[in-house]
Order: sequence, then structure tokens, then C-alpha cells
Amino acid sequence: MSAALGLARELIQRPSVTPEDAGCQRLIAERLAAAGFTPEWLPAGEVTNLWARRGDERPLLCFLGHTDVVPSGPESAWQHPPFQPIVEDGYLYGRGAADMKGSLAAFVVAAERLAAEHPRHRGSVAVLLTSDEEGPAEDGTRHVVETLGERGTEVDYCLVGEPSSEARLGDAFKVGRRGSLTGHLTIYGEQGHVAYPQRAENPIHRFAPALQELVATEWDRGDADFPPTSLQVANISGGTGADNVIPGALEVVLNLRYSPAVTAEALQARITALLERHGLRYSLVWRHAGAPFATRGGALVDAVEQAVAARTGRTPRRSTAGGTSDGRFMGATGAQIVELGPLNDTIHKANERVAVADLEALAEIYYDTLRRLLAP
Ligand SMILES: [Zn+2]
Repeated sequence: MSAALGLARELIQRPSVTPEDAGCQRLIAERLAAAGFTPEWLPAGEVTNLWARRGDERPLLCFLGHTDVVPSGPESAWQHPPFQPIVEDGYLYGRGAADMKGSLAAFVVAAERLAAEHPRHRGSVAVLLTSDEEGPAEDGTRHVVETLGERGTEVDYCLVGEPSSEARLGDAFKVGRRGSLTGHLTIYGEQGHVAYPQRAENPIHRFAPALQELVATEWDRGDADFPPTSLQVANISGGTGADNVIPGALEVVLNLRYSPAVTAEALQARITALLERHGLRYSLVWRHAGAPFATRGGALVDAVEQAVAARTGRTPRRSTAGGTSDGRFMGATGAQIVELGPLNDTIHKANERVAVADLEALAEIYYDTLRRLLAP
């Protein structure tokens, strides 16, 4: 059995549904300590966070990941129990196999190999793990990055193990993510009888032209790495349940996935101006889940590209697709950030799996990336 497969199985056995860590980080910390890392626990609330570092110098390369997994859903949908790792037809099955216990195992194996083969490497290697990535993500990576900032610890390269590959290992990697901005909008009217509309004010009718304009607006055109900003209406509800009542209010939830060509503040200002222009009575509460981040080039992107090409013969496509990731908390620090991991075709699904050959290849790619940056 390969080293990465063995560790991945041990991690999957631990049912670490957010915010539980179930001993995953303890296991990884022990392995890393034996390879010369100094583990440090930075818990917050009910979240377990590990910061383990080998070396004191810069550049500092940090591997970023999460030990928590999403719930399995009904076990009857699984061919094998979700927390019982099983290898079948070349695949390792289990919750977290692809997102992202396989990546964690590959990284530990890569770090152990660097310590063994290049014990006097330059710079430092660190591992930052949280058990709060799939959940609210308040007390996890955000908390650790804040603590590091207060200490003046600067991360130069951040390699995130999220499953980035699409059809084959290493065919795509992420060099950034869009920002996410949610608006909870309430449009006020006046409730009344549908037969007497002159004595009521229908908030759905008042909002309709504004909605039309919101969904037709071009917010930006994106750029070479990012698609244009997209606004989606995630929820819209009004009405009392009766068919003869004009409702008094309309609730709307908007979400924007936005590119670095705009800012959250600018989007908020434009949407507020639009609502004002339509003469609406409204309240609007914003939640900003993350700003966009992008690594347009640099030593980390080069090293990952070369490592993927050396192992797979493929040049990975640079992508910024998908939702936000914990990379967003590193984004503001100025670190170069790349996300590279296994195929994302089964993540969060029943029968989540990763190819055993991909696990081994990923461990080699991570090792080769470390070597190119820290032991050239
Ligand atoms: Zn993940």
C-alpha cells in the first residue's frame, strides 16, 4: 500500500463532520512532528485548528487544508459505509476521499519526503488545517490567518489542496476565486384586498421593473482570468398564502459572484442607486463572504505547472471557477495562492472517491513543488 493511501484511509475512518475533527489533526501532527515540524494548536470555539511549521526562514510555503467533511447523507445511497474506507477497482471510497483527506495525506507524504531527502532545504514548510471549512468558516482559517498576522508571520506561497481537477488529475488548477456578496432585500408595500388594489400597494409589482433591470445589468466584463460578474436571484418570496390578499412585503435574496474588475462596495452602491431610482421602499442587509483573489503568475504558479507537467505530461489550465475557498482568507495577505487537488466529480456526493493512482501522483506533484521552491 502506498504511504498516501494508508494515511488517507486512516483519516476517512475518523468521522469528522464539521466542526468535528475526530482526531484527524492529532494524527497528522504526530506524523509531521516526526518529520521535524513544530505543531501548534490554535482552537477557536468548537473548531480545531493546527499550525505546524518546519524551519524559521522565508520563503514560507504553507499547505492549507481542512479535516472536516460534509455529512454523508442517507447511508443507503452509499455502496459502502461512508466512514469505512474501501479500495475497489483502483478507487478509494469514503466521505472526504476527494474533499480533501486524500490531499492531506498526499501533502504529509510530500513533506516527509522533503524532510528526508532535503533536510537542509531553504525557507520553511507549514501545514495549516482547520475543521471548519465546510461550515460557517468563522473560527477556522480566518482565525489562524489573523493570529499569524498579529505575530508578523508572512506566508509567501500557499498551496490549497481543494479538488481542482476536472476530467484528469492536474488538467486544471485554481489561481484565484471570485468574490461572493449576498444581499437580503425586503421591499415594502401595503397589504390589502386584491379586489381593491387602489387601497393597497403591491410590493411584487413595485419590484418587477427593478428586478428586470437587476438581471439585465452588465456589472463588468471580467478579465483574462475571471468571467464577468454574475448576479443571481437565490430566493424570492411574497404572499400570505391566500389568493385574495396583496402582500405587505416581498423578500428577495441576491447573490453576486464577482470578479476583481469590481469591488463589493461598488456593487453595493450600484444596486442601492438602482433601487432608489425605482422609488422603492426597502431595507437591504449585505453579507460579504469573501473578496476575490488572484495569483496572476510567480514562482508558485510556475513550480506547480512544472511539477504537474513532469508527472502527468499535461499543462494545467488556469481556472478561477467554482465557489469560494479558504484561500480567500490568505488572499488579503499578499501570499501567492494556488489550489491543486484531485478530481472534483464526486465531492459532496454519495460514493465519493479518489483514484489510488491519483493519490500517489498528487503526493509526487506536491513533493516536486516543494523541491522546486525550497530545494532547487
Ligand atoms: Zn474542500
